Amino acid sequence: MSGGTLLDIRNLNKTFHTGKGGVEAIRGLNLRVREGEFVTVIGPSGCGKSTLLKIVAGLDPAYDGSVELGGTRIAKPGIDRGFIFQEPRLFPWLNVERNIAADLSLRDPAVRGRVGELIELVRLQGFEKAYPRELSGGMAQRVAIARALLRSPRILLLDEPFGALDAFTRSHMQEVLLDIWQRNRTTMIFVTHDIDEAVYLANRIVLLKPRPGEIAAIFPNGLPYPRKQASASFQELRLAVLSELYGRIDRTEFVDRAGV
Ligand code: ADP
Ligand code: MG
Repeated sequence: MSGGTLLDIRNLNKTFHTGKGGVEAIRGLNLRVREGEFVTVIGPSGCGKSTLLKIVAGLDPAYDGSVELGGTRIAKPGIDRGFIFQEPRLFPWLNVERNIAADLSLRDPAVRGRVGELIELVRLQGFEKAYPRELSGGMAQRVAIARALLRSPRILLLDEPFGALDAFTRSHMQEVLLDIWQRNRTTMIFVTHDIDEAVYLANRIVLLKPRPGEIAAIFPNGLPYPRKQASASFQELRLAVLSELYGRIDRTEFVDRAGV
């Protein structure tokens, strides 16, 4: 299902130098992501998830260690990577299709064709001319996804993209994203602090420890898609992640905490 290594992170260390001294955000992180793989990264707030994604995006080249995409060191942003934030960050004065086309001209038939394909992919047919203020949160985030896919990036980096959405919309967006992944096989790195979301989406779940961010555990997830959250195998994996996250605690106690 997945190809060779696309992203290779070796001994990544990141310290922010502030007026009050250094803040060590990531320590000794090693991770290889294969072409076509869907990886979720989870961990408590402040554990370095956004820092990690920004480094892969090329937005923060001041790191120690090696971060390579397709064999090339990441030092700046590039069209081979798409980024999606928690907020859609659309241009309020541009309609849906112009937000997706961004700096490219819709007068170019190739651009127009590509934007049309993307609108269909994110299920926004009929809303091409709508403005951001006319869209729901989920629709606006679908525009952001389409825009990130415009130049067919090799990898999509998503930083808690559904964190601001209600539960119903979030679950719909998970389906839309899985559909995109299954059709395009774009490699995904998806940051979330929601364990259910991490287990529902990923081929592999990377759990980070807080301060500094180090990998606590990696859980392969071979459950077949579409996944059933109520199934015993889903719950088993979810509990394994939870127990690693909260440490070894009395099983009945954490079954309560897990709300199962
Ligand atoms: P997460 O996304 O997991 O919540 P972040 O990657 O945003 O965590 O932050 C990791 C740590 O690095 C935190 O302790 C945060 O305060 C610190 N940090 C993040 N960005 C900066 C910055 N620009 N300057 C100083 N410290 C930062
Ligand atoms: Mg963050």
